[in-house]
Amino acid sequence: MKCRSWILLCLVNLHPFSLTVLAQNPSYGAAVEVATKTIRPEQIRAHIRFLADSLLQGRAPGTPGYDIAARYVATELEGMGLHPGVSGSWFQPVWLEKAVTDGSASSLVLTVSGKEQKLVDAEDYILNTWFASPAGKDQSKSESDVNAPLVFVRFGVTAPDQKYDDYAGVDVRGKIVVGIYGAPAAFPSTERAYYSDFNVKARMAVAHGAVGTIGIMLPEDWKRSPWEWLIPQIQMGEMHWIDKGGIPQDFFPELQGNALLSQQRAEMLFAGAPKTLEQAFATARAGKPQAFALPESAHIRTVATQSTIHSPNIVAELKGSDRRLRDQYVVYTAHVDHLGICPAVNGDNVCHGALDNASGTSTLLEIARAYASLPEPPRRSVLFVFVTGEEMGLLGSDYFAHFPTAPLNSIVANVNIDGAPGSYFPMKDVVALGAEHSTLGGEVASAAKIMGFEVSPDPMPEEVSFIRSDQYSFVLQGVPAVNVEDGVKSTDPKINGLEMIKKWLVTRYHTPLDNMDQPIDFDSAAKGAVMNFLVGYEVAQQERSPDWVKGDFFGTRFGPRHAGTSTGE
Ligand SMILES: [Zn+2]
Repeated sequence: MKCRSWILLCLVNLHPFSLTVLAQNPSYGAAVEVATKTIRPEQIRAHIRFLADSLLQGRAPGTPGYDIAARYVATELEGMGLHPGVSGSWFQPVWLEKAVTDGSASSLVLTVSGKEQKLVDAEDYILNTWFASPAGKDQSKSESDVNAPLVFVRFGVTAPDQKYDDYAGVDVRGKIVVGIYGAPAAFPSTERAYYSDFNVKARMAVAHGAVGTIGIMLPEDWKRSPWEWLIPQIQMGEMHWIDKGGIPQDFFPELQGNALLSQQRAEMLFAGAPKTLEQAFATARAGKPQAFALPESAHIRTVATQSTIHSPNIVAELKGSDRRLRDQYVVYTAHVDHLGICPAVNGDNVCHGALDNASGTSTLLEIARAYASLPEPPRRSVLFVFVTGEEMGLLGSDYFAHFPTAPLNSIVANVNIDGAPGSYFPMKDVVALGAEHSTLGGEVASAAKIMGFEVSPDPMPEEVSFIRSDQYSFVLQGVPAVNVEDGVKSTDPKINGLEMIKKWLVTRYHTPLDNMDQPIDFDSAAKGAVMNFLVGYEVAQQERSPDWVKGDFFGTRFGPRHAGTSTGE
């Protein structure tokens, strides 16, 4: 089915409630019609084909490939008649510090009962440099060294709100903490995501006095993220955005060593400990507390080369039509960057990032075109922000959320697109990451009804998706945010959506196989784009601005940073 025919079908097949919604909100109906006519699958396909082309070399920040993609996006936005969003420019400069560990100059040595054992880089362990002290503006090398006893701290999570503390009854001052990737499965999905965040865990380790961290993973996590797949990505290095004083964000000078151990090495680490690794994992899965000293100490020496690179965000603005509300903004985001050059598959070493996230960039371009095509702009203003550095840690969006082009408290909501929903198969339902935390859940439900989609709960909480894309940068600054993702059901009964997505994650995700040769459903992606158009449009039209759900975990924590938002009343 083509785009124009599917929406007719969609409107004909509308649930009676949806017709009521349309009747109550005739402007939504008209807007949906414009968006449906404007957002064409052929155009989405063309954008993706260009952005995923080998010529762009995987769009890594700081490379010509990313800069070409950024120019392409800006050129398209200019052609739509939108306005540049950064004091007359399309580009918001973002400076990033990049650190790449020199594996041959670095080392990890374990000592058990006075006996030293040197581990093998990239085979037994891999080092991260994200904690390390910045090299300073003119230096190109950083070094850190730590030698300390090891303490196992389960997930390394202190969560008073969940009445949970992995550090209870154990003193880790001056120690290296050994912790499991992720957070307890018993936590609600988004709380689990929050406490899985490396930055949150690092802050906790520092607060408890640790001087280094060693990560281990549950076998089920290794299955989803195999060593051979993960290691090359870590070897690409770490990036942080730097502020005007040259200070990188989210680095922890107190943690002087950070390693990830292979499963085999982790097992050996627990030999002679109060519990075997398997027993420790079993207790962790059961949610029971446990922390104990391990018999080893570790000497971690990290040597990294550092460089400063520039990679812009691209920002376009559509001024709102309501004099009272147009100083408030709905911010759309999609990341333009991807991983760059990767380990080759079938002779191809370009990580094309067709779905991740050329698809999101492409649909956001068409969503922007739909807004620009409306006979009258929505009441609130809309910003279309195409960000850099997502793959390296949500860097461009975090920079934007710290230095927005409109005052933070005038940004009423973020709608993020990472992987255009609908791309895998004819989509029957959507998953709205974060929708339950704010009133945005209402706009999502309403938009889904109008579009004929069901809304499903997050089917893979273990992926902690909520903190893994750019909406999270806005949440951290107190802005209600949502990321509409693919659902798990298809209108084609022969397709098992969840299985298809899970298979994609282990076969194509973050490999050169996420390319134009894979099956992509552009018709369905166009329909997903109209859905995302509608979510933002409803927010932009409504009298009240979105708010956090009372007592919400994120709203309570971060809402005050955003305080002062006018409700438009
Ligand atoms: Zn990605």
